Amino acid sequence: MARYGLVINVKRCIGCNSCTVACKNWHQIGAGVEGRRRVVDVTSGRYPRLSKWIFPISCMQCDEAPCITVCPTEATFRRKDGIVALDAAKCIGCKQCIDACPYHARYFDEKKGVADGCDLCSSRIDGGLQPYCVESCATRAMVFGDLSDPQSDASRLIRSEKGIQLSPQKGTKPKVYYIGILGSALEMSIV
Ligand code: SF4
Ligand code: SF4
Ligand code: SF4
Repeated sequence: MARYGLVINVKRCIGCNSCTVACKNWHQIGAGVEGRRRVVDVTSGRYPRLSKWIFPISCMQCDEAPCITVCPTEATFRRKDGIVALDAAKCIGCKQCIDACPYHARYFDEKKGVADGCDLCSSRIDGGLQPYCVESCATRAMVFGDLSDPQSDASRLIRSEKGIQLSPQKGTKPKVYYIGILGSALEMSIV
């Protein structure tokens, strides 16, 4: 069975937010609503040796996901392919998943009265497509793939570029990996 994840190359990300807009468009998330994805600017180093980094952040698709554990209605669940998803019809809007997520990856949709977050565009994946943010990125900063397949492009990149998980000390075992982070930026606390 596949185990889907994402590899993000921060050296390629130019902070254009195309992925954020694409995500909102595809999932029909209204203007003024936080949405499933954000792009974060971080500065590392000490003056005058400063570096600016840009990190696209969405659900880390954790293998040990506290959002699933705390959900009282099983609205938040794991698919067989490892994707953490949310069934809005089962959500009672208690916000426990939002509070439990150490990556601040979920938001509350006030209009619908339910939580929401990235599910790796699972409906697109089921149709043989790529996540929309991956497809819309002009610089090809993201690679989606099956992490259980050592020959997938995503697995190869994680190995060859020494991919890291953000804040692994949170203990949730993310399946989103970042590559291209160098020097003092490796010690930064991004989320
Ligand atoms: S990043 Fe947050 S919302 Fe996503 S799987 Fe991990 S704990 Fe759940
Ligand atoms: S807000 Fe919805 S998805 Fe989140 S824990 Fe409550 S019922 Fe589950
Ligand atoms: S994978 Fe889909 S849901 Fe997740 S951030 Fe990208 S476009 Fe949004």
